[in-house]
Amino acid sequence: MRTAGALCQPESLDNPACVIGSGQRCEHALVDQELNRRLYAYENQVRGRFSPIVDTLKTLSAFQHELDFVARAQRVAQDKLGYTLPLGLLENAWSAGLDLRALHSYCVFRSFKECITQTEADQMPWRDRMLIDAAFIQSCGYHTLDISPCADGRLQGLLPFVFRMASNDAVYVKAYAGALFDVEGDVADWTQRELMRLSGGIPGGDSGNYLKIAVYHYSTSNPCQQGCAAHGSNDGLAKQAATDRLAELRDAIENTYGRGAAPDTLMIGMDTDTDAIRVHLPDSESANCPMRFVESAALFHETLGMSAADAQRAVEQAIVSAEKSCGLQPGMRKLITRLLEANLSQIQYVIQHHEGRYAVIGHNERFICAGEAMSELQLRNKFYFAHLDTVEEGAPDMDVGIKIFSGLNITRGLAVPVLVHFHYSSRVPGARERAVARCKRVQAAIRDRYPQLHQQGMLHCQMAVSDSEGSERCTFIEDVVQQAGH
Ligand SMILES: [Zn+2]
Repeated sequence: MRTAGALCQPESLDNPACVIGSGQRCEHALVDQELNRRLYAYENQVRGRFSPIVDTLKTLSAFQHELDFVARAQRVAQDKLGYTLPLGLLENAWSAGLDLRALHSYCVFRSFKECITQTEADQMPWRDRMLIDAAFIQSCGYHTLDISPCADGRLQGLLPFVFRMASNDAVYVKAYAGALFDVEGDVADWTQRELMRLSGGIPGGDSGNYLKIAVYHYSTSNPCQQGCAAHGSNDGLAKQAATDRLAELRDAIENTYGRGAAPDTLMIGMDTDTDAIRVHLPDSESANCPMRFVESAALFHETLGMSAADAQRAVEQAIVSAEKSCGLQPGMRKLITRLLEANLSQIQYVIQHHEGRYAVIGHNERFICAGEAMSELQLRNKFYFAHLDTVEEGAPDMDVGIKIFSGLNITRGLAVPVLVHFHYSSRVPGARERAVARCKRVQAAIRDRYPQLHQQGMLHCQMAVSDSEGSERCTFIEDVVQQAGH
C-alpha cells in the first residue's frame, strides 16, 4: 500500500504538492490543525463578502424594469451582500438601464470596506495562536521586522498564512513590485525606528536589532509564466535582485552611520502555487546568498509521519546541512527554524483546502489599490497593489495592473475598479486635507493615463483615506465632479 508521503510529488501540475486519497490522512505532526481550521473560516468569511456580488447583480438586472425595483433591489442587496446600494445607481434604471459596471465596482469597494470594518472580529479567532508573535521576535533579538514582499496579490496572505506571524507593533509590511523596496525610504524607516528605540519608545529596543526581510516569489508548476512579472517570471533574476537590494540597504546605512550600524537582512522566496517557502541563510555579515537556502516543501515531505520532536530535529539538521558554516547568528537561526516549522502548517492548509495547489495559480485579484495599501486584509489575491506617490513614478506598476485587469475584468465586460488610497496622521494638522488632495491628484492622473478606458466607462476610481494614528479606516471620499458628470 502506498503511504501518504509517497503520493507527494511537488513538481508537476498534474500531481499537486500532496494528494490525499479517500480515507487517507496526510497530517504532519508539526501542523497546527486548529489554527488551520480557524484560518479557513476566516478565508471563507472574507471571500464570502465578494463571491455573491456577480450573482446578486444578475438578479437585480433581471427585474430592473419592475415598478418596485429600487425597494426590491435594496432588499436583495442587504440580504445577499449585507449592505444597500447607492440610490443614484438604482433610480434611473427604468429609463437608462442599470449601470451594472458601476454597481459591480461599487460592490467590490464596499465589500472591501466591510472587511476593513470587521478586521478585529474576523481576525480575533486566530490572532493569538500565531507561532511567531512579538515575544518570540524579541527572543530572537529583534525589535523590528521590516518586511517587503512583492506587491503581487498572491503574496497578500503572507503574514498570517505563509509565515504564521502575528501583526504587531514590531512588524511592518511594505510591498513593492518585484520586492524592489525603495532604499532611501527604507533608510528613513530605519532611522525613525532607531530614533524611537534610542528614546526608549520600543520595548526591548535597547538590546535588539532591526531585521529587513525581502520576499520574492516563483511558481513551481508554471515557472516561465506565473513567476514574478516584475522580473519576467525569472526565478534567478528575482533572487539576485532581492540579494542586491538588501546589500544596497546595508551599504547605505553603513556608509551613512558607520560600520556595524547596518540592520540584519533575510531573504525568503515563496512558491505562489503552494505557499511553500525557501529561506536563504545569511552569513555572519548578514549577507544573503541566492544559492544557500532551505526549502519547506522538501522538509514537509521528509518529515511527514515523524513525531513532532523528530520532525523538529530534522528541520534543525536541514539548516545545519545547508548553511555550510556560513556563520548563521543564533537569533537568526532561531527565527529561520521557526519560519520553516510554521510554514509546514500552511503547506498542510493548501493540501487540505486547495488540493495541494491553488486552483487559480495566477492573478485573481478583485481590484487595483493605488497609492498606499491597507494591511488589514491579509488574504491571497484580494487586490493588486500599485505603490505610488505620483502616477509618473508608479506608472510601470499601474500599467501591469491595468494589463492584469484587462484579462480579469474587461474581457468579461466589467470595468477595472481602482481604489486610490492614502494614509494621513491625525496628529499632523492639515494632513487629512492633504491626503484627500493627493487622492484627487492621483485619480486625475490615472484617468489621464488611460483615457480610452475612462471614456468608455471601463475605469472606476474610488478615493479613500485612513488615519495611521486614529480610528478612521478607508473612508470613501466622494468625487463631486464625477457624480455631476455621470
Ligand atoms: Zn512579483
